[in-house]
Amino acid sequence: MDEEQYNAAVKDEALRGLPSVDALLTAMDGLPHAVAVDAARAVLDRARAGVRAGSAVPPLEELKSEALTVAEGALAPSLVRVVNASGVVLQTNLGRAPLSERALRALREAGRGYTNLEFDLTRGERGSRHEHVRGLLARTTGAEDGLVVNNNAAALFMVLTVFASGREVVVSRGQAVEIGGGFRIPDVLRESGARLVEVGTTNRTYVRDYAAAIGTETAALLRVHRSNFRVTGFVTEPSVGELGALAHERGVLLVDDLGSGCLVATERFGLEHEPTVQESVAAGASLALFSGDKLLGGPQCGAIVGRADLVARLRAHPLARALRVDKLTIAALTATLLAYAEGHEAEEVPVWRMLAAPLPGVRRRARRWAQAAGDRGGLVRALTMVGGGSLPGSGVPTWCATIVPRGGAEAAARLLREAAPPIVGRVERGRVLLDPRTVEPRDDGLVAAAVRAMTESNGER
Ligand SMILES: *Cc1c(COP(=O)(O)O)cnc(C)c1O
Repeated sequence: MDEEQYNAAVKDEALRGLPSVDALLTAMDGLPHAVAVDAARAVLDRARAGVRAGSAVPPLEELKSEALTVAEGALAPSLVRVVNASGVVLQTNLGRAPLSERALRALREAGRGYTNLEFDLTRGERGSRHEHVRGLLARTTGAEDGLVVNNNAAALFMVLTVFASGREVVVSRGQAVEIGGGFRIPDVLRESGARLVEVGTTNRTYVRDYAAAIGTETAALLRVHRSNFRVTGFVTEPSVGELGALAHERGVLLVDDLGSGCLVATERFGLEHEPTVQESVAAGASLALFSGDKLLGGPQCGAIVGRADLVARLRAHPLARALRVDKLTIAALTATLLAYAEGHEAEEVPVWRMLAAPLPGVRRRARRWAQAAGDRGGLVRALTMVGGGSLPGSGVPTWCATIVPRGGAEAAARLLREAAPPIVGRVERGRVLLDPRTVEPRDDGLVAAAVRAMTESNGER
């Protein structure tokens, strides 16, 4: 027997020492059989590979506990709540806007039983789900009518399909952009069957550029709010009003993709001006489109508001059925819009409440978290960003807790993400920053505890 054969024989012997699948199943009593078997096999496969690579057979108890962890992991929901201490109010990665208490109550009420979703209670016959938010959308935006679909990308796709398929849509070169998540205006146009006619240059486009491009094939002028970046310096762009007037005069539509559905003057919160839906409608947009879960602070959806005859055509199109929202979205959106209709958005809608939180209180909260990090903790002035494709480069002043961990900021941030619930901060110049402004005060204790546990487990003290 040469050395190689000898080693193989030793490994075979070791492999025989691995327990059976059944032996591991005893650790997973009460879990679904198929899940337990899968977990046991996965753990044994890993152990086998380890033995082949020269490791010893792990103790039975260790394999059992590993299998239990794997099985429990397979049954745990993948979507979990996280604490957003990143200092970005609206992050698509973190699910955008948190909902108001009123919206949560409405969700529960609509979800736990039956609703009049498509039932006319007066006449006792079939109704339309679109009826529930029309009035509120019109009231809060000043538009004649409104329709809600799955999200703003769907809203734009639908509007282009219904009104511009096989025809031309005029877009400024500076607005033929990618919004994020692979959503590119030229691609959406192509998919809708509309032909893109680009006018102007990346930095300067004039009304006369649009005017020169309008022909018999033109269905619409499309304006796209540059929501996630800023072009500064030598820049010219016609206003919605100028484009609205031109569209009206030439008998084409003006479609305004606003992105963030802002209904309030952002200056109230110390932010730069974000175009509002009301401004767009008043300035003559035939249709204005916006997201429900950006600055509006509601559930994911896309609102289309504007001329009643156009909205009626959209409502009657088969895409309205394909892109329709469910009762939960309608319930949460209605509750969110009611806060605006009543003028209570700054107190009720979490997005605005966070942005409006007074600085001294934010500082006190940050200090508490910094103290939880002992001598590794500190305080720093920073900006809370709006994010989510709103107000690029604009933010409100805040105070962050800083932690300078001995084990490195990336490792520390990761430990915080492994807390339950996970805490998402940000890393800047070797420090972990935690911004209280984007955290609900009721979660403050969780953050402090996770910071304490992190600094201790990281050997910080
Ligand atoms: C965010 C955004 C969209 C996409 O909206 P979703 O609700 O994410 O589908 C489209 N256009 C603009 C200008 C945006 O900012």
